[in-house]
Formats: sequence, structure tokens, C-alpha cells
Amino acid sequence: MNDPIDDISARPVNDPAFEPSPVRRALPGCRWEGVETLRYKPEDGAPFRDVTRQVLFQMPELHCEWRYFEVAPNGHSTLERHMHAHAVMILRGRGRCLVGQGIHRVREQDLVTVPPETWHQFRADEDSPLGFLCLVNRDRDRPRLPTAQDIEHLSRDRHVAEFIRTGS
Ligand code: MN
Repeated sequence: MNDPIDDISARPVNDPAFEPSPVRRALPGCRWEGVETLRYKPEDGAPFRDVTRQVLFQMPELHCEWRYFEVAPNGHSTLERHMHAHAVMILRGRGRCLVGQGIHRVREQDLVTVPPETWHQFRADEDSPLGFLCLVNRDRDRPRLPTAQDIEHLSRDRHVAEFIRTGS
């Protein structure tokens, strides 16, 4: 059966012969049509482990970007801080996050606020991925990694010392 609705949604989003569809279909495993899955920042040597990144929305009209990150089981994002804030929604799986000096269990649909200049790191549980939407300003400063002094300061809290991962 030729369903005209399906015909419209099936238009390739990168084909210049067609107007791009406003709908990008969700694919299994938290992927989306026409969205490339990238290894997270492989070029700058930041200490992360098993993280992929998909940029979902990046429009001149919006002064923000919406990305989806996924940390594989037992993986972690980079321990970092920066002037811009993050609004995070857990979309898949389970894990823990450090925000400031606090370590929090997180699971699907939890919301996490990362204020400016606050150390943060996400870790997936050993038996689960941790996927999350992350909203950021379009124009933002580069993340900064902890110095040895920062790590020493953070590690004064025993729980934080056990949680953080600063090498891959
Ligand atoms: Mn960050």
C-alpha cells in the first residue's frame, strides 16, 4: 500500500532535490535518521571512555544545540568544567554523575542541571549504557580539564576520589 505520509517521511534529508522532512525518525538504539554518530572528541585527547555523540539540533535560529551522548557500559565522560551550563535528560540506561562535589544515581527521564564552572562527569553502570540529551549554548567556551591541583582538591572527598576517572 502506498501511504503518502510514509512517502514524505522517507525523503532523504540530505538530498538537495527535496525539501528536508521536518521529521527525522527514531531508529533502534537511540539513533536518528540522517544523524551521524561520532566518537566523542577523539581529536583532543580528553580522558573519556566509550562515548558517542550525535548532534540532534543545530540551527542558526536557535542559540543552543541539542546533542545526544551515549556512554557504553562501564564507560565515562570527561571530567571537566566550563563557563556554560548544561541541561541534561537521561534517555537510556543507568549510571551515576558527579556534579560539583555530589555523586548522584541517575536513570531514564531524570533531569540533571550542571551549573557554570562546576566539575561534572557521567559514568554508566557496569551492566548498562547511559544515554542522555544535553542542551548547550551554541556559542560556548571550551571545556577545561582538571589540573593536578584540581584533582587533589576534588579527592579530599573520599567518595569523589573513588568516583572520578581522569585517564582512559
Ligand atoms: Mn560539559
